[in-house]
Amino acid sequence: MRTSIQLKIVMIYLSVIMIVMMIIGTFIVYNIEERDYKSIQSDLQELADEIKVRLNWQTQKPNLEDIKSRINVIHVNHIYILTPEGKVDAGTNSELLIGETVKSEVVIRAINTKKPATAAIVHFANKNTGPKYTDHATPIVDPYTNEITAIIYVAANIARVYENMSEVIKTLAIGSIVAMGIAVLFGIAFSKMITAPIKQLTANAKKLAAGDLIKRMPIESNDEIGELTQSFNYMAIKLGHTMEAIISEKNKLEKIFEHMADGVMAFDREGVLIHTNSICYEMLGSLNMDHRFNYIFPKLGMKVSFEQLLKGGETVAAGEILEVNGRYLSMHFASYASAKDEPDGLVVVMQDVTKQQKLDQMRKEFVANVSHELRTPLTTVKSYTETLMEGAIENTELAMNFLSVMDKEADRMTTLVHDLLELSRIDNHQIQLNFKKLDLQKLVEETLEAQVIHIDKKGHKLIYETDGAKSYNIQGDQVRIKQVLHNILSNAIKYSMDPGTIHIKIFKGKDVAICIQDTGIGIPDQDLDRIFERFYRVDKARSRKMGGTGLGLSIAKELVELHGGCIKINSKVGKGTTVTLHFPISN
Ligand code: ADP
Repeated sequence: MRTSIQLKIVMIYLSVIMIVMMIIGTFIVYNIEERDYKSIQSDLQELADEIKVRLNWQTQKPNLEDIKSRINVIHVNHIYILTPEGKVDAGTNSELLIGETVKSEVVIRAINTKKPATAAIVHFANKNTGPKYTDHATPIVDPYTNEITAIIYVAANIARVYENMSEVIKTLAIGSIVAMGIAVLFGIAFSKMITAPIKQLTANAKKLAAGDLIKRMPIESNDEIGELTQSFNYMAIKLGHTMEAIISEKNKLEKIFEHMADGVMAFDREGVLIHTNSICYEMLGSLNMDHRFNYIFPKLGMKVSFEQLLKGGETVAAGEILEVNGRYLSMHFASYASAKDEPDGLVVVMQDVTKQQKLDQMRKEFVANVSHELRTPLTTVKSYTETLMEGAIENTELAMNFLSVMDKEADRMTTLVHDLLELSRIDNHQIQLNFKKLDLQKLVEETLEAQVIHIDKKGHKLIYETDGAKSYNIQGDQVRIKQVLHNILSNAIKYSMDPGTIHIKIFKGKDVAICIQDTGIGIPDQDLDRIFERFYRVDKARSRKMGGTGLGLSIAKELVELHGGCIKINSKVGKGTTVTLHFPISN
């Protein structure tokens, strides 16, 4: 059970008062008892001396009643004259019979020492069980024979001593009760002085613990309590500063977490998710704060044990790549320690490496494509050369045929290498563009002039029109723009199998645009998104047969963008394709 300071102080006060009163009481009772005893005993002694004097000059047996009545002996109840052996010779009382031996210790002492003897004082005796009398014996010694001739034995009732004692004890008891009552009142008052500020401190400490940063407490005294209040105020201020620092640090960390490009998850030592940032939700989709590690990761197809990772120390697993919802995530796990340096939980950092993965993939595909594109013409050239060397060269017609195929393949390789170099220059920003004011209409017409022979050859109908604007001036590199127009137009001619219509239109709005529309084979929807990728072709065999490298559209796109423009493509399978080029106007 909890005892309050107030009660303790009151109890201490009471105990002190009780102890003091008991010690003082004991001394007082002892002294009063001794004083009373001594007064009775000196009366007895005086009486015995007086009787002795009288007996010395009286020859006849003394009349004790007479003596008793004549001398002032208030307390004396018994006067006896004893024989030298201690037997009653004469007495005022009939309690001891004549001839009866007196068994008192004082009589024995008087006989033995031949000197007066007084009973010892009995302190703190009980009224009922203690002695009722105190006695005295004076021997009368013959000076000539030195023999005891008689013994005067007197005894007095000590009831008065007991009465006085009980009076004193009663007074002391009343005094003690009053003193204790006063002590209780003072104790309560004093303890309140001490406990009131302590109670206030306790209340404020509780508020502080609950996170309520209270204002400073007034210092009302310069004693220990005042010092404690001062220390408390100092502690509250320090705590306030620490809390502010922690909160600001927490806010900072939360902001960092929130704006990190990497996903961060923290698990407690039980493996329960306790913290995460929003990017994690984007990366992993469904995720709840109370989800467990052993539920989240096996579901993603990752074989990791939370317990092992927790034991594993600092960075226990790094860089494992996981494919989740079309993204590639590089996973890093690290356990964090508690203040006691024991593993307290796990932090998981997820990096989105989709871009790198895709780039890596594209690089691999690119190398494979280039190798493949070069291998086909090389194989053809090699096999035709061998055939010629084996004797086909003798047959002039066949040899010419072979040589023309080899020439075509060499052209293909040259075109391919040229296209690759062009792309490489664009990638490395090494391309030199000779910008100047160009009339786009003129460039379109020049390109058409060069291609019209192919259009005619395939039996296509050509529609060419403009929206009637005064000029279609742009800033650009003439050779590159012509190259773009050539690529797009030759595609429209190439991929229109049956004779169709090629419709070219130049118009001016917020920019200068050229629309090249054909009624060819079209491009399936699923290929449209990837059509500008390098080497991407809807039908590889067909493209190759037509002398295509799969780089025309990607080069066109890069070049248009280098001119600050853009390229758009719309297509429907079996209906045709529309490619629109936009260039910024130059006046
Ligand atoms: P290629 O050298 O193969 O023509 P491009 O980069 O010019 O390479 O074009 C890529 C692919 O886009 C072509 O292989 C073809 O499948 C498709 N394509 C381009 N233009 C057209 C078009 N006008 N009609 C149909 N398909 C087209």
